Amino acid sequence: MTSLEPFEVYAIRYACVERKASENFLGGDPHEAGMPMDYFVWLAKSDSKTWVIDTGFNQQAADKRGREFLRCPTEGLKLLGVDATNVEDVIITHLHYDHVGNFDLFPQAQFHLQDSEMAYATGRYMTNPFFAHAFEVDEVVAMVRNVYGGRVSFYDGDVELAPNISLHHVGGHTKGLQVVRLWTQKGWMVLASDANHYAANMNEGKPFPIVVDVAQMIDGWDKMKRLADDPALIIPGHDPAVMSHFQAPSPELEGIAVRLDA
Ligand SMILES: [Zn+2]
Repeated sequence: MTSLEPFEVYAIRYACVERKASENFLGGDPHEAGMPMDYFVWLAKSDSKTWVIDTGFNQQAADKRGREFLRCPTEGLKLLGVDATNVEDVIITHLHYDHVGNFDLFPQAQFHLQDSEMAYATGRYMTNPFFAHAFEVDEVVAMVRNVYGGRVSFYDGDVELAPNISLHHVGGHTKGLQVVRLWTQKGWMVLASDANHYAANMNEGKPFPIVVDVAQMIDGWDKMKRLADDPALIIPGHDPAVMSHFQAPSPELEGIAVRLDA
């Protein structure tokens, strides 16, 4: 196991929004305190391979949904030495607007996605605004076009992409949400994406309220605890604390990106 090639892993912050704590926990929260949300994409880089995880949204989507757009996720990637136009592989954790916009900025990429996510985003549940709200139909249609273009690799459940990286179906938040397990110098790390928005969702046992299957969401926390070598290596998908718990790889990246495996 120790002979595996480790990944450097980065969280790249590209947007934020003010929220109330009560909006972040199913059943609300007794405190009406503010609890802002950050938006990230992630980069996993080894000597031989680069994976981008999710593609974020753009200024137009930020304006439509009232989010503060800080910079294009591809600018963050560029500051970390990755040119989006050359990226070969992008893992899509799920098809919500904040994870799957911008894929026109990755013209060479193959997208790695769960069967069940594409079925969910194009099926019966999208007739209901509760489930459809966080999807953008044009992005889903664009992904369908990528399917016909041969640019989507589908998985049905858990899959090892290489000995040092695997995808794990969780569901819960959406039908086909997947998390990413990476070998790093700190051990096995899990990028939770929206399987755990905030550390408090999992640690306090309080699900995030955008959900299709609460039981699956809660099972997902246990699954991630089995996959990671330490609960501290389960990286929440929207928690601003990520930016303070981890350090920027260089002074220029302060407030833009942090290295998760250092
Ligand atoms: Zn999200």
